[in-house]
Amino acid sequence: VHMDGTFIYDIVMEASFEGVKEELAKMDLGERKVCIVTDTNVAPLYLNEFEQIISGCFHKTEHFIFPAGEEHKNLNTVRDLYETLIVKQFDRHDYLLALGGGVVGDLCGYAAATYLRGISFIQVPTTLLSQVDSSIGGKTGVDFDAYKNMVGAFHMPKLVYTNIATLKTLSEEQFSSGMGEVIKHGLIRDVSYYRWLSDHSSEIQNRNLDILSEMVTVSNRIKRDVVEKDPTEQGERALLNLGHTLGHAIEKLSDFSLLHGHCVGLGCIAAMAISVKRGFINEDQIPVLLEVMKRYHMPVTVTGLSPVEIVKTTKSDKKMDSGAIRFVLLEQIGKAYVDKTVTEEEMTEGLARILA
Ligand code: NAD
Ligand code: ZN
Repeated sequence: VHMDGTFIYDIVMEASFEGVKEELAKMDLGERKVCIVTDTNVAPLYLNEFEQIISGCFHKTEHFIFPAGEEHKNLNTVRDLYETLIVKQFDRHDYLLALGGGVVGDLCGYAAATYLRGISFIQVPTTLLSQVDSSIGGKTGVDFDAYKNMVGAFHMPKLVYTNIATLKTLSEEQFSSGMGEVIKHGLIRDVSYYRWLSDHSSEIQNRNLDILSEMVTVSNRIKRDVVEKDPTEQGERALLNLGHTLGHAIEKLSDFSLLHGHCVGLGCIAAMAISVKRGFINEDQIPVLLEVMKRYHMPVTVTGLSPVEIVKTTKSDKKMDSGAIRFVLLEQIGKAYVDKTVTEEEMTEGLARILA
């Protein structure tokens, strides 16, 4: 994305890695080096195959593998990566390539944004969450101590290449978490997509590649559309935060034992409940949402948390805007808006729907 909002990179989706060769060939990289950044879960599954496919596209191919998990998305890992790049004499014309989920993409993107004041990078997302969400939009970053995504930069990839077939090896739990963001896309932008997700749950759960490619395409379009209108997050992009104000708080209070997309789903239920109270949405939409989420094996309740604690935690969330929380509500299914007047009482009422 240019800061004026136009996308300058391609998002390509296929059911294998093969096609990446053609995309890279267009980029004239014969003189460039590339370092593939990946984690210890993805490397044994895909690194060899991927390296073989792209060998010949670059002058030289290196790789950097770090231990899987959010706890390694930090500056220590970035430091190790810088060291590798320096030892291998990467200069400002060379490339980084993220092969993995959102953790790999965020960390690799941040290293690319900062090494030598910024080098080019490519995203090859391999989780549902990264394919529909984190690989698009140019946000990169790492955690700092207990603070999530505290250090970061906007840095746009030169190419996003999604191999939908990688979703076949994703755990049931990670897949289900990604569905939280997918359902959110339907809720904020596209009621017919929301209904389609409800109607195609068995194919999607069976990871039917044709249906998955349709789903990832629509979700990409929605995310891209929202981001394009607002690349630096002044307004419209905030709609993507549906379910995130309360969701983040729940995620934090669970010490990240609950997965992000699951917390987003819980937050969406609460946001819908508040929208019902406001008179925007009919009460009977809530059981519909619960049913859709259950089909994707998402939790619809959470235990052991108090509403007071959750509301308190939302206040330390960085989505605060001069004191007022920019809460995302639903005007109707498929149409979200930002509301700065949501009260603590309303949040507590919304939370009553999900606290068991
Ligand atoms: P992740 O990268 O940790 O991946 C989840 C797990 O799946 C990991 O253990 C990983 O090794 C494994 N994995 C990855 N691909 C696999 C595959 N194809 N088969 C089997 N296992 C595979 O987590 P995630 O959910 O992809 O991403 C979460 C991260 O994304 C968080 O750090 C979050 O902050 C970030 N994020 C960033 C943005 C953004 O705009 N930049 C948006 C949303 C989330
Ligand atoms: Zn999210």
